[in-house]
Order: sequence, then structure tokens, then C-alpha cells
Amino acid sequence: TQQEALAKAHQPAMTRDGQQVNVFANIGSIADVQVALASGAEGVGLLRTEFLYLGRTSAPTEEEQLAVYQAIAQVLDQQPLIIRTLDVGGDKPLPYIKVPLETNPFLGWRGIRLCLDHPDLFRTQLRAILRASHGHNIKIMLPMIATITEVRAAKAILNEVQRELSQAGIAFDANIKVGIMIEVPAAVAIADQLAAEVDFFSIGTNDLSQYVMAGDRNNPRVANLTDALHPAVLRMVQQTVQAGHAAGIWVGLCGELAADPSATEILLGLGLDELSVNPQAIPILKQAIAQLTISECQAIAASALQLDSATHVRQLTS
Ligand code: PEP
Ligand code: MG
Repeated sequence: TQQEALAKAHQPAMTRDGQQVNVFANIGSIADVQVALASGAEGVGLLRTEFLYLGRTSAPTEEEQLAVYQAIAQVLDQQPLIIRTLDVGGDKPLPYIKVPLETNPFLGWRGIRLCLDHPDLFRTQLRAILRASHGHNIKIMLPMIATITEVRAAKAILNEVQRELSQAGIAFDANIKVGIMIEVPAAVAIADQLAAEVDFFSIGTNDLSQYVMAGDRNNPRVANLTDALHPAVLRMVQQTVQAGHAAGIWVGLCGELAADPSATEILLGLGLDELSVNPQAIPILKQAIAQLTISECQAIAASALQLDSATHVRQLTS
């Protein structure tokens, strides 16, 4: 039960054969971080920063953002805080950025694309994140990466901001880690190349499923198609983990799939190092991990990859 699970939620998540998996929380507000820790989160695997930007008439200032990032980092103490840079776009408009009407907002000007075209907006966020990183365990995560060019452009801006801060004598973590979301099929295809550029991957199966299956994640008529347990999506998860591990970086997963009880064995079997889920899902997920062994998970994952539908994968694991 939830209560039994909660009682043990503060122990590290470890399989019966001693494999540790980091269980982190997805959060989207300051209040969430308390809930996350109370639920047994070992860190924040995804801070969605959109909440700072939506529903207002001007962008949040560097100081406003700094205060929020610091407040969250302080609660977490030295546990990791992965801050995802702004991921808005056509479907989530900002009054202070003119986004022309798009026929396909999910294929449009969103995430890193919009940030790279608005360098001032992006720089302000990076300055706030870097300043908050002083004395805390903060990592930066870039959303919607499809190309190496985007990663290099974002890192070039980050380097500039770091130089500015150094020159001004402002403290920050000079070794801050930079990772990317893997949520565009192109990123999976070139995961080996991307792995050479970044410190970690986090797979966003909400978007990855919609892009792989060509099914809008918000359209109930195609919801059966976009089940992330489809072998087409699982094979992409496998490819991403293999490419990351071959390059010596860790690979996590922060889409809703990570909280799906039917997915836990498969995800462990595919070798994910970290699962980041909504706080409420943490106790049950940790309890499930404690009952598994990696070798049985690997066998189940291998079977799942050979099945022909998400329905059959669900039959296998539930
Ligand atoms: C995802 O796409 O899986 C993800 C975690 O990010 P978001 O749901 O915010 O797009
Ligand atoms: Mg996404």
C-alpha cells in the first residue's frame, strides 16, 4: 500500500541484486520540492521553469529567478537539482514574445529553438541558474534538442555568460554539468554524437512518443498510438541508453512513462540510471524497484522489444 511504501521511501532505491537507481522528482513550483522530499525524492530530475514565465506581462528578471532557484536548491541541500531551461512555444504562448500563429505548434518554434532566437531571454535565465549554482548541486538541462548545432550554440552562450560572471567576480559552479532532453527522434538517431557534447541525457518520453508515433500528445483520438510502451519507443530508449553508456555518461528518463508501474521492469532492464517522476509516484516506484533483480528485468526488456504492440507489452508486465 501507499502507506507502507511511504514508510520506506527514504531509503535509496536498490534492486534485490544490489543495483542502485536514482529516483528523482519532476517539479514545477517551489511548493513541490517539499512534497518531493517528503515522498522520498533523492533530488529533482526535472524542474520545469515555465511556471516562472507564464501568466505575466514581462519576462522574470534575473533576480526573481535567482531567488526561486536558490530557494529550491536550499531545500534540497546537496541533492541534485536539474533545472531545465525554458520550454515554451506555440502551444504555450508568452505575451511578451511574439510567436506567429503556427499550423503545427509542436513542430514549431519551441524550447531551445525559441531560446536560441531570443538570446537575451536565454542569457538571463543562464545567469540566474549559474548564480544559484554557487554552493549547490545544480545541473542545466536543455529541452527539444534535435541537432549538434543547437547544443554547441547553447553551450557557446553559456560559456559567454560564465566569462561575464567571472569578470564581474560573481561566484558560480565552474564545473556545472550540462545535459539534454532526448525527446526528438533525430536526437536518438545521433545520440552517439550528442553524448560526446554533454554530461547526461534525460529521455522525455511524453514528447518522444508523440514525435515517434506522429500522434499529438494532447489528442485523445490518437492516445492509443502514443502509448510510450510501444516497442518503437522502447527501442529508442534502448538506443539512447546504449549510446550514452558507450560514451560514459548517465542516462535518465523523466517522461510520464517512468511513473507507469507497467514500465519499471523494462526501464531497469534497459539500463536507465535515473528515473524522474511526479512526487506522488515515488514511494510505490521505490518499493517496486526493491522487489526486482536486474537480470529478470533484462530478460523482460528483451522480450518487450520483440513484441508488436504496446498492448502486448502491457500484457507482459502487468
Ligand atoms: C517529456 O517530453 O517527456 C517531458 C518530460 O517534458 P514535458 O512533458 O515538459 O514536455
Ligand atoms: Mg518535453
